[in-house]
Amino acid sequence: MQETDMIDKRQFYIDGAWTDPKEGRDKEVIDPSTEEACAVISLAGPADVDAAVAAAKAALPGWMATPAAERIATVERFLTVYETRAEDIAQAVSTEMGAPIDLSRRAQVPLAVKHIKGFLAAAKDFPFEAPLSDASADTRILYEAVGVCALITPWNWPLNQISLKSIAALIAGCSMVLKPSEQSPLNAMIWAECMAEAGVPKGVFNLINGDGAGAGTRLSEHKDVDMISFTGSTRAGIAISKAAAATLKRVHLELGGKGANLIFGDADAGAVERGVRQMMNNTGQSCNAPTRMLVQRDVYDATVETAASVAKSISVGPAAMPGLHLGPVVSRAQWDKIQGMIQQGIDEGARVVAGGPGLPEGLNCGYFVRPTVFADATNDMTIAREEIFGPVLTIIPFDTEEQAIAIANDTPYGLSNYVQTADGARANRVARALRSGMVEINGKPRGPGAPFGGMKQSGNGREAGAWGLADFMEVKAVGGWAI
Ligand code: NAD
Repeated sequence: MQETDMIDKRQFYIDGAWTDPKEGRDKEVIDPSTEEACAVISLAGPADVDAAVAAAKAALPGWMATPAAERIATVERFLTVYETRAEDIAQAVSTEMGAPIDLSRRAQVPLAVKHIKGFLAAAKDFPFEAPLSDASADTRILYEAVGVCALITPWNWPLNQISLKSIAALIAGCSMVLKPSEQSPLNAMIWAECMAEAGVPKGVFNLINGDGAGAGTRLSEHKDVDMISFTGSTRAGIAISKAAAATLKRVHLELGGKGANLIFGDADAGAVERGVRQMMNNTGQSCNAPTRMLVQRDVYDATVETAASVAKSISVGPAAMPGLHLGPVVSRAQWDKIQGMIQQGIDEGARVVAGGPGLPEGLNCGYFVRPTVFADATNDMTIAREEIFGPVLTIIPFDTEEQAIAIANDTPYGLSNYVQTADGARANRVARALRSGMVEINGKPRGPGAPFGGMKQSGNGREAGAWGLADFMEVKAVGGWAI
C-alpha cells in the first residue's frame, strides 16, 4: 500500500475534542492479513499523557456529582450510538487485528453490547447508597467513584476489554483516560467518537494512543491517576504494578491464562470438538482459551484422533474473507513467538498430530498459523506452561480425577478452566477444586453479568455486571447519617 493510501489517525481525544499530539511519534498500524500498513497513528509523549490526565482530573468532580440515574442514561445513549457504528467497528477490528469479518460482526462487536446491557441491568439494582443494616440505619454505606482511571487494553478482544472498563467507569462516576493497544487503535477511536456523540461530558472520557514503555508507564506512575485497570500480559501487569507502587494507586489486573479442559471418560460426544474449536477461536488469541486438553486415559487415543481431525478441518484465510475460518495472528512478533513455541514443543518431545511449523498451504504472506495439535505432552513442557496465544492445543493424558486436578492447578495462571463429564457430582467437585476465577462445565457459558477474572498470576480484578461496577468504586462508611 502506498503511504498516501494510509488513513491518518494521528490525533487524540482529549477534553471533548480531537487534538493534535504535542509530542507524538508516528506508528503505522499493520494489517496482519496483508502485512501492509493500513493507518498511521501517533504514540503519545509525556505531555500528551499529562494533558489527558489533567482533562480527566478536571472533569471528575462534576461527573462524580452527577446523579447515578443520569450517568446510566448517558450509557443508554452510548449504546444506541454504538449500535449504529457496529459495521465501522467490525471493519476496523478485522483490518487491524485480523479477526475474520464474520467473527468481528458476530462476536467482537456484540460482546460490547452484551457487557453494556449487563452493566445497565446491574446498575439499576446497585446499592450506590444504602443503610448498613436495620439495626444500624444511621450508618450509611456509600459507593463512590475511585477517581481518575487509566484504562490500558490489549488487541485480542478489543471491544470486550474497552467496554468492560470504560462503561463500568462511567456508571461508577469515574473519569478516565483510555490507552488502547497500539496494535488495534482504530476501533477505540470510533469508540471515542461514540462517546462524543452520546454526549459524555468533556474530559470524562479521553483517549490517547501510545505504547507500553511510553504512555503506559507514564499513566502507571502518574500522581493524578487513582486507578489503573489493565488487561494484557502478565509481564506488563508486573511492570505496571511496580510503576504504580510509588503512588499506591489501585491496580486492577486481568492477565494471561493457560486454561485446562478436563475431558473425563464419560464426557459427551461433542466435548472434544467443542474444546478444539473453543481453543482455536479468534486464532487462539484469547486469555481464557482452553489451551491444555487433559484427557482420561481410557478415551485418550480416540480424543487425540478427533482433535487432530477437527484441527485439520479448520481453514485459515484473510480477515476480509467471509466465513468461519481462522484469520492471521496479530503481528509478526506474535507469529515468530508462536513458531518458536511450536518448534520447542517438537524439540521437547511432544507429538504433532495436526498442523506444525510454517505457513498454511496456499498462503505466502500474512501472519497465518497452521491450526496445531500436540499430543503426548507433559505438563512441564514449555507448550504446557507458557501462554502461546496462537492456534496451538496441547493434549496431556491423565488417569484419575485427583491427578487431573493436580495437573490443571500446576500452573502459575488461574483464569478459566473447563470440565467435561456426565457425572454432575464430579463436575461440581472438580469445579470447586480448580484454582481459577472461572470454570465452565459441559460447554455451558457463564450467565449474563457473571464476573470475569482470574486468580494467581492471571490477575486480581473482576469485570462485568455488579462486580465490574464495584471494582471502579470506593466504599465509604458514614456514621450518624441523618434519617
Ligand atoms: P501486552 O501486555 O503487551 O499489552 C497490553 C496493553 O498493555 C497494551 O495497551 C500495551 O501498550 C500496554 N503495555 C505493555 N507494556 C506495558 C507497560 N510496561 N506499562 C503499561 N502498559 C503496557 O499484551 P498484548 O500482547 O497486547 O495482549 C495479549 C496478552 O493479554 C496475553 O497475555 C493475554 O492472555 C492477555 N489478556 C488477558 C485478558 C484477561 O482478561 N485476563 C484478556 C485479553 C488478553
